[in-house]
Amino acid sequence: MARVAKQLSRREALALAATATGALVAGCADSAPAAGRKRIIVVGAGLAGLGAAATLRARGFDVTVVEARERIGGRVNSVERFGTTIDLGAAWIHDSRGNPLTAVAKSAGLETVATDYDRVELRSAGQKPVSEAITEQAMAARDRIIDSLYSQADKDPRSNLAPALAREVRKQGLTGTSAEALNWLLGVEFPLDRGGSPPQLSLGGFNEGEEYDGGPDLLIKGGASQLVNKIAEGTKVETGVEVTSIKTSRSKVEVRTRAGKTITADGCVVAVPLGVLKASTIRFDPPLPSATRRAIARVGVGLLDKVFLSYDSAWWPAAANQLGTIGQPLTNTISVFPLSKLTGTPLAVGFTGGPYAARLEKAGPAAMTAAVVERLKAGFGENAAPSSTLQTNWLSEPFTRGSYSYLTPQSGYSDREALGKLNGRLILAGEHTSIDRPATMDGAWLAGKTAAARLASKLR
Ligand SMILES: Cc1cc2nc3c(=O)[nH]c(=O)nc-3n(C[C@H](O)[C@H](O)[C@H](O)COP(=O)(O)OP(=O)(O)OC[C@H]3O[C@@H](n4cnc5c(N)ncnc54)[C@H](O)[C@@H]3O)c2cc1C
Repeated sequence: MARVAKQLSRREALALAATATGALVAGCADSAPAAGRKRIIVVGAGLAGLGAAATLRARGFDVTVVEARERIGGRVNSVERFGTTIDLGAAWIHDSRGNPLTAVAKSAGLETVATDYDRVELRSAGQKPVSEAITEQAMAARDRIIDSLYSQADKDPRSNLAPALAREVRKQGLTGTSAEALNWLLGVEFPLDRGGSPPQLSLGGFNEGEEYDGGPDLLIKGGASQLVNKIAEGTKVETGVEVTSIKTSRSKVEVRTRAGKTITADGCVVAVPLGVLKASTIRFDPPLPSATRRAIARVGVGLLDKVFLSYDSAWWPAAANQLGTIGQPLTNTISVFPLSKLTGTPLAVGFTGGPYAARLEKAGPAAMTAAVVERLKAGFGENAAPSSTLQTNWLSEPFTRGSYSYLTPQSGYSDREALGKLNGRLILAGEHTSIDRPATMDGAWLAGKTAAARLASKLR
């Protein structure tokens, strides 16, 4: 989803881009012999694990990546459906100018499509179009609110977002359809973009992350898994291997798998999602340090789910990038993105997020799809009834347990630091350990590289 964040300084962006290029070179080189080299186990073959593996290999370590699923990529998962490729998880390279994944896409020869989120087509229930003037008035109010929340966040990062947001909304003085349109636009920010609803988020959490040098968000023709495959080049991954416990001592690490195998190594990068850490399905012996455990409990895991809607022909206005039916509580916001410009097929994807999405996932296999279709039909009529559908269930996926992390009012930036801190021969990695780019693909990749560098300097 769209992310609005503050700018990363040019110096930081250049530094990140330089590391990114280094990883690609590392992805092709594995020349040193295994004998005599220190061995590292990386748990999880998402972008963080793969980033860590490439960095460690480039530094001469013997690296094995073990992955519970039968595929790599984790929350990046492109599949063939509806006669095209769809992304069940991450899809956009956000803030493309300076994002190191833009360089990966270029080097892999991938074609991208820029997204303008503000090409919005809104309807009231009863299929009444919301005028352009009202939509623009609501967008201007949204922008003022977001700017104001950003400036408050620096002063009071741990305060709850909900009351600050309510105050800012009141200040705009919008009523009737304008107020409902504003409510929908804010729903796209939270819960959809942030994965949590306003009372779950802190002001600092809303403000965290950096934006590189801006630039449009890019969708990738043929799917985001192509980025993962490029980054994974040359890395050995054992799939179908679920890790159940990790024992560390002064001299080694023992990783035990569900199949009862024990793998011994000199060090370990645990690149599993925060949701998996919260569920305690991996036992750490000795337990992780108390600051890390506190951070695991306090930092939130949000939810974004997708419902793909396939049609016999495209029925939406050609220019529209987002379709919405207004008049619902902010927490229940649904946004639908036509994907025809990307796929060349009559396909769209609906988004639900936060506790609303969690309730729909739990309500059974078809509840979310029904909610998205009914909402779309309420605004856009019978044309919006799809011929076939597919929904994601990221919360119910045992090796993910949510979509991405966010800062709650109980947590702060120091918790992200605690999550990414080296603990003897073991280090955690993932989007949740990223300070600059949490909840993103690039953030996960760079966090993996950072974790690898920390572990490598300890083991040298
Ligand atoms: C619906 C959705 C939409 C998103 N949209 C975007 C977007 O448009 N742009 C963007 O930049 N980001 C987006 N994101 C976020 C992005 O996907 C993540 O931030 C990033 O992919 C996380 O990478 P990771 O390596 O930290 O974790 P993951 O990709 O989750 O990798 C962790 C790996 O660990 C494995 N694992 C778990 N438990 C075990 C175990 N016990 N043993 C062995 N292996 C295990 C998992 O199977 C998984 O492969 C989206 C996420 C979702 C869910």
